[in-house]
Amino acid sequence: MKKVLLLFCLIIIFSCAKKEKLKAQFDIIISNINLIDIKDGSITNKTIYINKGKIVDIRIKDSLINAISENNIDGTGKYVLPGFWDNHIHLRGGDSLIKENRNLLPLFIANGITTVRDAGGDLTTQVLQWRKEIKQNSLIGPTIYTSGPKLDGNKATWAGSLVVESPEDVTKALDSLQKIPSDFVKIYDSRISRENYLAILRDADKRGMISSGHMPFTVELNEAVTSGIGAIEHLYYILKGCSSKESDITQAIINKELSFWNAMSDLILSYEDSTAQRTFKLLKEKNTFVVPTLHIGDILSHLDETDHTNDPYLKIIGKGIIKTYDGRIQRALNASEEAKKSRKELNTFFKKLTKSLSNANVKLLAGSDSGAYNSYTYSGISLHKELEAMVAAGIDPLKALQTSSYNGAMYLKKDGQTGTVEIDKNSDLVILNSNPLQEIRNTRDIYRVIKGNQIYDPTTIAKQYNCTDCFTYKN
Ligand SMILES: [Zn+2]
Repeated sequence: MKKVLLLFCLIIIFSCAKKEKLKAQFDIIISNINLIDIKDGSITNKTIYINKGKIVDIRIKDSLINAISENNIDGTGKYVLPGFWDNHIHLRGGDSLIKENRNLLPLFIANGITTVRDAGGDLTTQVLQWRKEIKQNSLIGPTIYTSGPKLDGNKATWAGSLVVESPEDVTKALDSLQKIPSDFVKIYDSRISRENYLAILRDADKRGMISSGHMPFTVELNEAVTSGIGAIEHLYYILKGCSSKESDITQAIINKELSFWNAMSDLILSYEDSTAQRTFKLLKEKNTFVVPTLHIGDILSHLDETDHTNDPYLKIIGKGIIKTYDGRIQRALNASEEAKKSRKELNTFFKKLTKSLSNANVKLLAGSDSGAYNSYTYSGISLHKELEAMVAAGIDPLKALQTSSYNGAMYLKKDGQTGTVEIDKNSDLVILNSNPLQEIRNTRDIYRVIKGNQIYDPTTIAKQYNCTDCFTYKN
């Protein structure tokens, strides 16, 4: 009798344990959502299971019975894709703007941006501190990848730049970046010599450091590319590499017979398709990324005639940062009529160039260049405008979307852990109410943003800024 009782008990224990095993607990479940595959644009209805900041399972609808979570998101009729990346921002402006820069960080999350690439500034200590706070969830903000200070020559334009005037300086500068450690090397072109610029690229490449930069016009584009530059920021340098007269123009710049801005009209006039195609081929072969920054180009080339005083974002950007807008505004207003006209022509040309780069399958990165000193280019929303500018230039919405998270992760070699919605990837996601492949503006129609195990409702963040206008989809 005792034996029978024991067996009975064991059966009960065993069956309970089995039931327990079937009941899977998840931190977040997003059910019945339209999952956009960022690689090919296909859309499938899926349920996504998240644990500890990672996507642990993706299944057809509710095929995983007994899955439970305290955070269930009904994805019916909604769209999910990887959280956006803004691949070119700046956190900068010195001690007096530390607080105002910190206040910008939640704006990225409210705009669905879960990762930013900080392309150089003078607040590295703070940026590293914010990055830590964001990781610990004590501050709302995106994952920040930072270059730390920019590298440039003596008397550089940007505060906080590391001065490189000799081969020893190259070693010292790269050593110090590795000590931070910075996520990539950013080179500026205001004062750096051609020799030191190329030496930085070669040394960075040897050390396995990712690089990006402007390019002094004393250098030819193919020299920068073959020396290992990882990404070209802005299109001036691409334009230079598409000119049939690049060597002559470079020599004139070296001889100080021509300036950067004066070279632009010559470069446009000598744009040659066969040269451009050769350059695009090289960029593709060397896996060099290009950051067109079209939206800021639109803003800056029309500063003389566009009235920004009613921009809703001016209500939430700090007064100190708004003050830094003055420099570019004054320069635009004081420019000659001819200079104003050529700036606009250059801007129009850059849109065509972006489309040609895309047609040639050169990898583009969506970056807004938002931050202090970059007038009216607001944190968060500018990334959406960059994507819209790409589509307006003729790029299809899927390709434009890829330039944000997918290419961003690839450029910084983080594609093993993020940038797509797949099992084992980070759960950095944006859920939209409408399909961005049909209409790119729908990237702003945000329902929820998921970063790791945190779920954000943009309207809650909007309340904190007291500017509902800033986050309305229609703006
Ligand atoms: Zn920049």
